[in-house]
Amino acid sequence: KLGNATAKAELGRATWKYFHTVMARFPEKPTEDQQEALRSYIFLFARLYPCGECAEHFQQHLNKYPPQVSSRKAAAGWACFIHNEVNAMLEKPEFDCTNLGSFYDCGCAENEKAEKG
Ligand code: FAD
Repeated sequence: KLGNATAKAELGRATWKYFHTVMARFPEKPTEDQQEALRSYIFLFARLYPCGECAEHFQQHLNKYPPQVSSRKAAAGWACFIHNEVNAMLEKPEFDCTNLGSFYDCGCAENEKAEKG
């Protein structure tokens, strides 16, 4: 059956932006509960991703490379790695994960204090 490649790519770009921004905002020192929340979120995200073919591939990547949720750095690094796996599958260039830095900025204050200040 014929898909719509433009719509699929647009959904992908928007989703990756959101996905990496979630990681960039994950606590640096997450509690057990926060770690479990991120792990569950990632598995449900993969299961519910609207493009069925993509969801299927992504779940296979997840089984091979389980989510790293021990810290913000670990989560962001893992997400970059797994996005690169998708890039490789689609024959897209590899993103340099050492260049993540503040690439994904939510535009929100880092904490309550900063917001008030
Ligand atoms: P995208 O891959 O969408 O990336 C957007 C931007 O993110 C890039 O321009 C770059 O600035 C940055 N970026 C690139 N790589 C990384 C990285 N490793 N870490 C952090 N930032 C990075 N499409 C299919 O055709 N088949 C599939 O099976 C498929 N599976 C997908 C699974 C998921 C979970 C998602 C979210 C998307 C999937 N897509 C799939 C869509 C595909 O990954 C792209 O989003 C789409 O092809 C558009 O590609 P793009 O070149 O614009 O860049």
